[in-house]
Amino acid sequence: MKRILTFTAACLMTLAAFAQSYPIQGVPFTSVQLNDDFWAPRLKIHREVTIPIALYQCYNTGRVDNFLKAGRLKEGDFGTEYTFDDTDIYKIIEGASYSLQTHPDKELEAHLDALIYYIGRAQEPDGYLYTARTINPDPAHLHQWVGKERWVKDPDLSHELYNCGHLYEAAAAHYRATGKTSLLDIAVKNADLLVHDFGPGKLELEPGHQIVEMGLAKLYGVTGKKEYLDLAKFFLDARGKKNRKEYSQNHLPVVEQETAVGHAVRAGYMYSGMADVAALLGDEAYIRAIDKIWGDVVGTKLYLTGGVGAVGGHEGYGDPYYLPNMSAYNETCAAIANVYWNYRLFLLHGESKYYDVLERTLYNGLISGISLSGDRFFYPNPLESKGQHSRSAWFGCACCPSNICRFIPSLPGYIYAQKDRRIYVNLFMTNTADLVLEDRKITLEQQTGYPWEGTVRITVRPEQAGTFELAVRIPGWASGTPVPSDLYRYTSKDNVRTTLQINGNKADYTMQDGYAVISRAWQPGDVVTVDFPMTIHKVLANEKVKDDAGRMALERGPIVFCLEWPDNEGVNIRNLLMPQSTALKAVYQQDLLNGVMTLEGTGRNVMQLANGRLKEEPVAIKAIPYYAWANRGRGEMAVWTAYDRKYVKPMAYPTIASQSRLSASRDATDAAAVHDLEMPANSNDHNMSYCHFWPANNTTEWLQYDFKEPTKVSSTEVYWFDDSIQGGGCTVPASWKLYYRDGDEWTEVKAKGEYGIAKDRFNVLAFEPVTTSGLRLEIQLPRRASSGVHEWVVR
Ligand SMILES: [Zn+2]
Repeated sequence: MKRILTFTAACLMTLAAFAQSYPIQGVPFTSVQLNDDFWAPRLKIHREVTIPIALYQCYNTGRVDNFLKAGRLKEGDFGTEYTFDDTDIYKIIEGASYSLQTHPDKELEAHLDALIYYIGRAQEPDGYLYTARTINPDPAHLHQWVGKERWVKDPDLSHELYNCGHLYEAAAAHYRATGKTSLLDIAVKNADLLVHDFGPGKLELEPGHQIVEMGLAKLYGVTGKKEYLDLAKFFLDARGKKNRKEYSQNHLPVVEQETAVGHAVRAGYMYSGMADVAALLGDEAYIRAIDKIWGDVVGTKLYLTGGVGAVGGHEGYGDPYYLPNMSAYNETCAAIANVYWNYRLFLLHGESKYYDVLERTLYNGLISGISLSGDRFFYPNPLESKGQHSRSAWFGCACCPSNICRFIPSLPGYIYAQKDRRIYVNLFMTNTADLVLEDRKITLEQQTGYPWEGTVRITVRPEQAGTFELAVRIPGWASGTPVPSDLYRYTSKDNVRTTLQINGNKADYTMQDGYAVISRAWQPGDVVTVDFPMTIHKVLANEKVKDDAGRMALERGPIVFCLEWPDNEGVNIRNLLMPQSTALKAVYQQDLLNGVMTLEGTGRNVMQLANGRLKEEPVAIKAIPYYAWANRGRGEMAVWTAYDRKYVKPMAYPTIASQSRLSASRDATDAAAVHDLEMPANSNDHNMSYCHFWPANNTTEWLQYDFKEPTKVSSTEVYWFDDSIQGGGCTVPASWKLYYRDGDEWTEVKAKGEYGIAKDRFNVLAFEPVTTSGLRLEIQLPRRASSGVHEWVVR
């Protein structure tokens, strides 16, 4: 039967009529064939491992079932934890669509068709699509984040519009990849409902979690329906009027915002949406605002790894220069959002500094979010670990894995861009690209061993000889500026400079906005050879970054390095001293971590002795790329190493507690932290690891030391963890008791004082001495909160 031509299909026919929006245009990933040794294998693992796993998880966890239930294809209640779980399926469809476009796969395409059928079934007749309500709209039945009426619940929670945004992104990608309008029709019907429901004189509400703005701009790009763009602008301008709070960037009208605050993923999506709307509607005020915010992030809030969002509590930005390493949040989604935002700023302004940030994020704090095997994920990406961090196969809140799913296959689209008669070469990886520049077909062939080697050969093959410009990005790291601000600097100036040659002769070029611009009459087969100096850089942070004081990081090319336990056996990473004068050499190891460059040298191992004095001896050290850490099990890792003795914090000399075997009740997280000999600055110290029982409350929990041998003990000290001041779920316990092993029994000690529950200090309990093989700390959690322990000392 002939399909009725939908509105969408009809307007797609006129697509060609819509002009490109940004001053600079990206060269789509479909025009680029990637065949390098660094990224192409990652994209292959993504296709073969990550996408199938993500799909499996969506079926296995009930995410797909939610659509079946909403579509009356299955019985039952909303069956997953979060109201935004629908978006994981949208994001996987988006990533799988990109993947299909470069690697057709009938089976995967059929799989997407099935999912899209379910999504269509779950859509209500007027276009509304949100399984958390549709499955059972009875108010008594709704998830606590869902309001009785559509849209009007505290929007931070409901995520209704967030779901819409990801639907539009997926729909645009699926349409572009397959030419099918099945998902696009669903998206358009939904977006038309938004246009009907929201706007001046209608619902005037701001979205809680941004992305619908970017999604609407994309949907406009595909359909040409300007009302979508106007609605995106309306949503942005609705912010800062009511519900004012920084968490969701709702504290001020967007054009008055000057600094990055609040939840980092929301922020990154909002700034990206503002760039889209600004480019499409020519809104200068938006551009001024995001330029200023960018200066704030790059100047005071960017980790060396390109990660953003230092604080775990609100998953977002902290104060300027607050960049703790061990508790660094750096959500993988925030890294992806940072790439989106910097890419758009480049398309607006054409300056290489945006790509300096993008590349730094991409090669370090973004791909650290997925294991080399493609099947384990990080949500936060810290810069230091004592072994408390490890990757997970999936998360209850699965935003990060599904975001990785949609981002990775789109990567080839970030390599080139074009404007008028200029081609920008922004990233370096072996590939072949076909583009059309002012009606001239040009093929570019890039060959390089980047990021390990600094030579890039670009063969230019225009269909016919002719004049145009090739603008090659000279990365900040290659010209002594790790980031476009004074947040980080190299300890010494490079005495080798980047060189450019054409067909073996010194190239004639001018530097513009960070690009070496070569303008000439190109002959087919002309070869541009760029040589970046692959110096090993020692990096220092701005003095205002307290957490990096006296410390140094290592970089080579775009790669940030770290020291991890398996490469530095027999030494505690935190005991290391690496003077600024340390000689290091780069050694490529094919057999390590899928092939990585390592940095090798000799540092100093600083050890604490029983008498409290320090002993120091030389030790071989080896650094690996940061992105590759946590692929060999749990253990110590650090990006920043002390170069100043004062800042080495060596492991304390072993104690009864640290030498005991520790066990704990089932609900304990990071129990080992209680005998790591790390003393917190206060009960809310997130820089030290701590044991906690959250989300358990009103239960009796325990920690237990089994001594190496029967030991005489007479006092204990407990330092409670308490983050209630920050709105966290842990406070001091209701009460506690100490027991010792007495034959087969646990007997309470004869306490000589109170069982203290004071914050911000050790609670000392002396008791009548006993000789025993173990102690048990029993903790009664408060009725409506949980508790935690920073440190438990025994004497
Ligand atoms: Zn995430």
